[in-house]
Amino acid sequence: MKRRTFITLLAVGSVAACSRPAHATIRGLTMGTSYTVELAAPIDDAARTRLAEAIEVELAAINRAMSTYDPRSELSEFNRRQDLHWVPASRGLLEVLDRAWQISTASQGAFDVTVGPLVDLWGFGPEIRARRVPDDAAVERARQSVGYQHVQADLSAGAIRKRDSRIQVDVCAIAKGYGVDRVAMVLDQQGVHDYLVEIGGELRARGTTAAGKPWRVGIERPVEGGHVLGETVVLENRGIATSGTTEDFFEQDGRHYSHIIDPKTARPVVHPSIAVSVIADTTMEADAWATALVVHGPERGYALAQARGLAVMFVTASGSAFDVRVTDAFRAHLASTPLS
Ligand code: ADP
Ligand code: MG
Repeated sequence: MKRRTFITLLAVGSVAACSRPAHATIRGLTMGTSYTVELAAPIDDAARTRLAEAIEVELAAINRAMSTYDPRSELSEFNRRQDLHWVPASRGLLEVLDRAWQISTASQGAFDVTVGPLVDLWGFGPEIRARRVPDDAAVERARQSVGYQHVQADLSAGAIRKRDSRIQVDVCAIAKGYGVDRVAMVLDQQGVHDYLVEIGGELRARGTTAAGKPWRVGIERPVEGGHVLGETVVLENRGIATSGTTEDFFEQDGRHYSHIIDPKTARPVVHPSIAVSVIADTTMEADAWATALVVHGPERGYALAQARGLAVMFVTASGSAFDVRVTDAFRAHLASTPLS
């Protein structure tokens, strides 16, 4: 769903730690990025192959439902609709749109899956185009069709609809998290209880490592084009996601324009380097909140996260220094000893 070639979170498993954290690793590509599943318990080849196949099937179904990079996906088809009728939708799309709506409301509109036209206009969409600041008239035109209230999901009826025909839905900011949750569900169903699942840097852990210890995850700091390890968290049956302005951006006239759009201004977040990590019960929630809180930024975002009891860390780079703010709920997950 998004071309991203590096991972913002580094699992201990992949950075040769002293004790071997996993017995088996399943890797693959999905949503324009890579995924990794670390299994703590030994597994024979046949079982591993079955598991890998079940994971592939699940991820392929998610892509068929919600990829905006695939013109034949269910979501691409929905986006092309010009009418306001209710249309039957897959379970996955319903769940994602329903949760997206809740987080849009809770984040005061900072999270908004209808930013699609703005994402495209600013050059961060599926279409390959030059990235530069568009003129004000074009921004005004595109923002007319943006507003999370204009797309509705009815879980009990199993249907979705537009309330404005121009609406274009883009679930890039929540789909990877959802994918992680679904892969975790596949593992649960197959009786696997100790694992770490990762898609493009968003993770979920359950149980323990091969050494019987809780999974620990190192969080990268926001530096352009590099990887600097920052805080380490202990992940027990939870998901974590990180979103930041250094992941994808362009520069023009000395200003930094990020792939994360503030729906209120219809413009990209201009702060050059913030990363927001969120720990939640599901990776889907963590993923959406991470994006929303980048939009709010470290001041307003911190206040909102604290007020809602969310587990969040804001890391802001200024020069070679980092300002780190963690909410009370996040502090409880910080590891007493760092990874490196
Ligand atoms: P990444 O995909 O790099 O991990 P995010 O989860 O923050 O980062 O998703 C960013 C993507 O989500 C953007 O590339 C764009 O497609 C979309 N997007 C941008 N701004 C918003 C927003 N305010 N709310 C929801 N989705 C957004
Ligand atoms: Mg996100």
